[in-house]
Amino acid sequence: MAEKVVVIGSGPAGLMAGISAAKQGREVLVLEFLPDIGRKLLASGAGKCNFTNMLDAESMAERYAPEQRRFVKPALLSFTPDNVRDFFAGQGVKYKLVDDFYCFPVSEKASDILQVLLDRLTFYGARVLCNTPVSGLKIENERICGVYSHEKFFPCDYLIAAAGGPGFPRLGGHASLDKLFAANNITVLDRTPALCGIKSNDLWLNGLAGIVLDKTVLTLDKKNFAQGTLLFTGDGISGPAALDMSGRAAIALRDGKKVVLRLNIAPEKNRSDWQELLEKARQENGKKLIRNLFNHHLPQAVASAITQAAGAGEMIAANLSKTVQERLLEYLTNAPINVSGVESWEKAMASTGGVDRSKINSKTMQSKEIANLYLAGEFIDVDAPCGGYNIQWAFSSGYLAGLLK
Ligand SMILES: Cc1cc2nc3c(=O)[nH]c(=O)nc-3n(C[C@H](O)[C@H](O)[C@H](O)COP(=O)(O)OP(=O)(O)OC[C@H]3O[C@@H](n4cnc5c(N)ncnc54)[C@H](O)[C@@H]3O)c2cc1C
Repeated sequence: MAEKVVVIGSGPAGLMAGISAAKQGREVLVLEFLPDIGRKLLASGAGKCNFTNMLDAESMAERYAPEQRRFVKPALLSFTPDNVRDFFAGQGVKYKLVDDFYCFPVSEKASDILQVLLDRLTFYGARVLCNTPVSGLKIENERICGVYSHEKFFPCDYLIAAAGGPGFPRLGGHASLDKLFAANNITVLDRTPALCGIKSNDLWLNGLAGIVLDKTVLTLDKKNFAQGTLLFTGDGISGPAALDMSGRAAIALRDGKKVVLRLNIAPEKNRSDWQELLEKARQENGKKLIRNLFNHHLPQAVASAITQAAGAGEMIAANLSKTVQERLLEYLTNAPINVSGVESWEKAMASTGGVDRSKINSKTMQSKEIANLYLAGEFIDVDAPCGGYNIQWAFSSGYLAGLLK
């Protein structure tokens, strides 16, 4: 008789895990809390689904948070971005590139990706039950023999948990399984929102809402920085660079640290380039207002905001003192953003925390705490930057978990 595998969760991780397990002849049952499958996947990339990108597995691993890189690599190598593209192309869903890097289905429909997953799952004989929240585990002799939902018992030889995270509750994000697992002595780390906007009460940001800077570098510390577009919002910053730093900032705040991000607003220019520009203005354009010197390089509002913050609001170039120049150079290359918080779960596209990585064998996704338990996707303490990394992680970890090695 075929071994029974129960998968919890019908997101990209659970569905891929189900396919991987069913392909090897196991009897797979996917249990989903919600009335329908793959809700977050359907909403991903504004419904277009940025399902991976053009990095190879090794380079991709380097884009995860420093402490996660070693852990994610074996899974990414087991089912690489190339493999993911081939998998969907083989089922008729070709991809197109945005910015020569981000992969979306040509149709721009996340539903095409979900349909392939469902088709493959059923092709290999697996079943999906929706409206079936797992609310209990039966553990005997340190093995999970089955799960409970609505008084029903579903026996299993293996359990694959791919229950996602609590972000975007309106898309069904919740963390009910975190509590259940913790109550059964499986180590689950507290979560914080990730991939969300960052809040700041800094006065210099007032009046910048809506302005976009195309290329920035946002630094938290020596190990954690993000490059990319930044959007000033009514209460702080957003856009890819901010989203990518939000999880690390949230952890630092939770741990009681003072969090100051450093923003390089135009990284193509270094400190000496700006210094040269200021020196030249002093000599050749002494009567010009300093805030008008950056017109070719920065949006006017940003130039005004940093000039004001540096104490050179209405100053002309000829009057620029050494002290003010230093402060200005600091804002131009390393502007401080004091972080007061991050957006709530309502707007968090990912989460930090979840099942402790150190309790999982990264080469198999098998739990070190319960032998017949495997983990995948966002349910694990892994969070990636925006740009297809999270769904790739869900596919890769799901694939590897489903091999049940
Ligand atoms: C708005 C939005 C846009 C995004 N866009 C992108 C993007 O373009 N590219 C990208 O890479 N990432 C994107 N992400 C992130 C990506 O969607 C997630 O990383 C990914 O869905 C995680 O997959 P998963 O299978 O681990 O979890 P999920 O997709 O969250 O699936 C987990 C499933 O488990 C179910 N579940 C939970 N608890 C139980 C239980 N007790 N019993 C039964 N079932 C349970 C949940 O209902 C859910 O359906 C986006 C996220 C959001 C919210």
